Amino acid sequence: MLLTRRDLIKLFGASAATAALGVSPKAFSASAPHLVIVGGGVGGTATAKYMRMLDPSIRITLIEPNREYVFCPGSNEVLNDEVTLAEQTVTYDSIRNRYGVNVVLDKATAIDYDKKTVRTAKGERIAYDWLVVSPGPDFVFDAVEGYSRELAEGDFPHAWKAGPQTLKLKKLYQGMRTGGVVVISAPPMPYRCPPAPYERASFMAEWLKEHNPTAKILILDSKPDFIFQPHYETYWKEKFGYGTDNAMIEWVGEHNGGKVVSLDPNTRSVKTADGETIKADVINIIPVHKAGKFAFDTGLTMGKQWVPINPFDFRSKVDKNVFVIGDTTEADPMVKTGYLASNQAKWVAQVILAEMTGKDPGYPLWTNNCVAMAGEDFGMTITDTFRYHDGKIELQETIQSPVNLNPHLNAERVAIARNWQRTFRRDIFE
Ligand SMILES: Cc1cc2nc3c(=O)[nH]c(=O)nc-3n(C[C@H](O)[C@H](O)[C@H](O)COP(=O)(O)OP(=O)(O)OC[C@H]3O[C@@H](n4cnc5c(N)ncnc54)[C@H](O)[C@@H]3O)c2cc1C
Repeated sequence: MLLTRRDLIKLFGASAATAALGVSPKAFSASAPHLVIVGGGVGGTATAKYMRMLDPSIRITLIEPNREYVFCPGSNEVLNDEVTLAEQTVTYDSIRNRYGVNVVLDKATAIDYDKKTVRTAKGERIAYDWLVVSPGPDFVFDAVEGYSRELAEGDFPHAWKAGPQTLKLKKLYQGMRTGGVVVISAPPMPYRCPPAPYERASFMAEWLKEHNPTAKILILDSKPDFIFQPHYETYWKEKFGYGTDNAMIEWVGEHNGGKVVSLDPNTRSVKTADGETIKADVINIIPVHKAGKFAFDTGLTMGKQWVPINPFDFRSKVDKNVFVIGDTTEADPMVKTGYLASNQAKWVAQVILAEMTGKDPGYPLWTNNCVAMAGEDFGMTITDTFRYHDGKIELQETIQSPVNLNPHLNAERVAIARNWQRTFRRDIFE
């Protein structure tokens, strides 16, 4: 929701409204408390915006190396020409000009926890009172023998960070020979956006059915099952002959040897855990995930694959002035989604405000309110709620839209999903 000036005055008073609706980052007093944020993706940008909405005077600096951010939610639809990458791309103009955030186009490289400074690649040292870190995930390429970052940048794109690789993947599968085969290797949990590999397969199938109807998509999975599986299988049966000899989509779970263990780029083939070699025209390996590089370089991972956090307020276990949010954290049982990253951001902003003002932050209730699609006429929704209880994060409730073949309701959920994507993007970046 985009708040009007009147809404802001109602919520936070006149001074907050002035600060939130158009003030230069230079207008803030150098002696004001300083929040520094590493990473201008969903988690980091949401922290910047919502911190400003809670407090009109705090200085906020966002460190991010890229001028633009390509939104992942909705990026699978670039593959079937429903949206363009340009439509998925946002800038930091609003965050800078409406919310008075100092956006530093640079890469953070180190933290000095004693001096409370962040070092950047260009050699700046930026002092903070509080630091929020949201660098997203990185990938473990060597979990599949023969795969590498270089191959992903070339003819084997994972496209799991929306951007040029998304366009490359689209070009590859749309340009393959008649009757060609696409292999999608789905990773083990945890990874960002659990339904997205199956949404991707569905959108590709939709395009192929029209332009290359004898083509096949083979999903080789490192898991024995997946979220929304009954929904996808129902839709695939109806649209793509799933489960028959002429199926356009085939899924092989981990229990049937679906896990991909190696890639041979020269023969364009993958080998599965049960020793089968499968040749394909296009190979899309979604890699195993781990915490972002910055989290490893700064010791925030404490020797683990993900960043341990205090489950109440997302403070790092390394230093109490550092908060870590988003995909890079170990926040079980939360899944890794943009919606949760933004909810964590809003809560952390509240915790920081409470510390500034000496007040009690209250208790968090996080929600994961997400959408997925199987096609232009089949959408799905899920709502998870989480609370802090007994020293840990607890899943309170999960509500999924039911599997049914009521075309009206299923199509309506596509409209809901599209609206969700638009409003969520605006909620973070406008
Ligand atoms: C295909 C796909 C579909 C998806 N669909 C959905 C969906 O429908 N709903 C949903 O909720 N989620 C979805 N997601 C997941 C969602 O995109 C992520 O969960 C979300 O982006 C996580 O936010 P984040 O802040 O942790 O990381 P990101 O959004 O990835 O942001 C990380 C940022 O940190 C920056 N950064 C990294 N290192 C540094 C450094 N050293 N210094 C400065 N900056 C740095 C990066 O440049 C990047 O801008 C999807 C993901 C994919 C791949």
